[in-house]
Amino acid sequence: THGSMAADVTTTATCGYCSTGCGLRLHVRAGEAVGLTPETSYPVNLGMACPKGWEALRVLDSPERATTPLLRGADGKMHPVEWDQALRTFVTEIRGVQDRHGIDSVAFLSTGQIPSEEMAFLGALTRFGMGIKHGDGNTRQCMATAVSAYKESFGFDAPPYTYDDFEQSDCLVFIGANPCVAHPIMWERVLRNPNDPKIIVIDPRRTETATAATEHLQIRPKNDLALLYAITNVLIERDYVDHDFVAALTEGFDTLREHVAAYDVDTVARAAGISAASIIRTAEAIGTGRAVSLWWTMGVNQSYEGTRTAQAIINIALLTGNIGRPGTGANSITGQCNAMGSRLWSNTSNLLGHHRFEDENDRRKVAQALGMDEACIPSEGSWKYDRIIEGIRRGEIKGLWVIATNPAHSWIHQSDARELFDKLEFMVVQDMYHTTETAQHAHLVLPSAGWGEKEGTFINSERRYGLIKKVRRAPGQALADFHIFRAIAHYWGVADQFAEWTDPEAVFRILQRLSRDQPCDITGIDGYRHLDACGGIQWPWTQQDAAKSSSDTNGGAPGKPPQERRLFADGRFYRPNSRALFVVDQVQPMPERTDPVYPILLLTGRGSVSQWHTQTRTRQSPVLRSLYPVEPYIEINPVDADELEIVHGEKVNVLSRRDEITVTANVTATVRRGQAFMPMHYEATNRLTLAHFDPHSGQPSYKNCAVRIIANNE
Ligand code: SF4
Repeated sequence: THGSMAADVTTTATCGYCSTGCGLRLHVRAGEAVGLTPETSYPVNLGMACPKGWEALRVLDSPERATTPLLRGADGKMHPVEWDQALRTFVTEIRGVQDRHGIDSVAFLSTGQIPSEEMAFLGALTRFGMGIKHGDGNTRQCMATAVSAYKESFGFDAPPYTYDDFEQSDCLVFIGANPCVAHPIMWERVLRNPNDPKIIVIDPRRTETATAATEHLQIRPKNDLALLYAITNVLIERDYVDHDFVAALTEGFDTLREHVAAYDVDTVARAAGISAASIIRTAEAIGTGRAVSLWWTMGVNQSYEGTRTAQAIINIALLTGNIGRPGTGANSITGQCNAMGSRLWSNTSNLLGHHRFEDENDRRKVAQALGMDEACIPSEGSWKYDRIIEGIRRGEIKGLWVIATNPAHSWIHQSDARELFDKLEFMVVQDMYHTTETAQHAHLVLPSAGWGEKEGTFINSERRYGLIKKVRRAPGQALADFHIFRAIAHYWGVADQFAEWTDPEAVFRILQRLSRDQPCDITGIDGYRHLDACGGIQWPWTQQDAAKSSSDTNGGAPGKPPQERRLFADGRFYRPNSRALFVVDQVQPMPERTDPVYPILLLTGRGSVSQWHTQTRTRQSPVLRSLYPVEPYIEINPVDADELEIVHGEKVNVLSRRDEITVTANVTATVRRGQAFMPMHYEATNRLTLAHFDPHSGQPSYKNCAVRIIANNE
């Protein structure tokens, strides 16, 4: 499906995998995309794409696509049914559960993979129309800690950067981030940096990014928070503090200084297994840098103290005045193509657009913007993901609707989750593929269209709204999630409530109304056409911005926002006093430590540039499958392997306190002694992990559990 020069027309859409949000030029013949090439003029990727993007069309053609609704029969097997029967069954069964066990006994689990318009529709339909109180997104698994950290420190969930910062820093610090593999086009942007920047990587594993770094601080797992405090201590002791910035724009500096004074470099270095000199060098690089940017992803987020670790990164940026200028920032890179949309628009923890369910004024404002009765809007947010799963265990949740996510593979301590799904009285899975591990537990499967088969907007990591477009017909009877939600609204009898929600662009206009006067205000965007013409637009883009831009540059036509748009250049944060807050906390012990029975600490993460999450899509491409090992593997340090008499390429058994799996040994020095690493993309990995969570965000701590590895002699 690579580029076809014989196509009739081309059109550009945002990629549907990761949060980079590359622009892909689709080559369309007779209404069907026949090929694609990376878009050279798109400001995100500048003509580059990773293998997943190149293969984006091929995975739509899989025989594993769900092409009709499937209903589990009395024989226990799934049978094709018409949409009418499927929707009647949906309503009868879900209502039946609510009648038998109470209105709150049904929940939904959603995704960061569908457009904002669909997320908002799902959130509004369930919570305002169907009386479903509890629902959460799989974004809880990847970036909830960044949300809670930003909200408390900045007053709003606001990643401040723009991708140009990758090219404008003279020092980049990556903490628990491996962009070479996880965000390869962002890494390409780093490689374009003309300043010969220092690249510092803080990561227990010698990742591809660490290999390319100026300095790799290969810390023992979960010593990151103490290390960041020690770096902060050095910065303060050596007076690398931007005093004017701290005095004018922050709050809590004295508390920060007193707190970090306890994090002596030698002690922290010893505990972390690195040299004191490397900590000093890192602090010096940050302190003397002209434009320093700090970037983090799942190594920080997926931790039992992820929120506080993210805030320790934010503290460093604030302390040194590295925010609001080119090449700076405390920058969370998110994961999924629309994780940022989920953060704003899923209507689960936050009322549409970061309003608050608990706030009467916010409820009234949202009700007015939607033209709905205020009484429809509940006065509290949903349970978080882990509490929903716990609710199934306790028998409080009896019905579950899962949309475009695969928790039977991805949820922490997965074997437990699978047993729980089997306890449900009714489970609906709405997905492109009927073969996911989660769909195996479903009573009803609703077939949905995928990326390329529908339209809407994604928001990428730098807050850019980008368009996705319909360039293919969905197979069989599969429908866009948007149209499934519309149909459910109709069958549930609440279609009148959503009369305005006719198509994705109509919902985009609703989202614009809801964003008004919020930090994420997008009232200046002149519809999908404007997004298309500009190569996407970063929030905020207000009516005032638009008026200024069109009169300045465009003779009154909808103006093109400037490409470099970062937050806080005006020195105002979103807290009531406009100041950012330094937040500190005590370092917590690891929830599960190694011991003589389970002496190895297992890390998990992204394994290959060509794999995506639970491989639901990527394994449908022969090209992508050929780029990584099909069989699950574990990386083991050569010295450990020697002691355990394990040979590279042999099968080994890996046991945790939860389960036991058999995988292939990959003996490699990427991990230090006493540690091992498994990619999350294999079904086996999360049978081992420990269900433990960051208390502030509810994010699972995927990165640390104790295991034993033994040679498999069968
Ligand atoms: Fe798509 Fe991400 Fe690859 Fe870009 S880097 S092509 S957005 S998967």
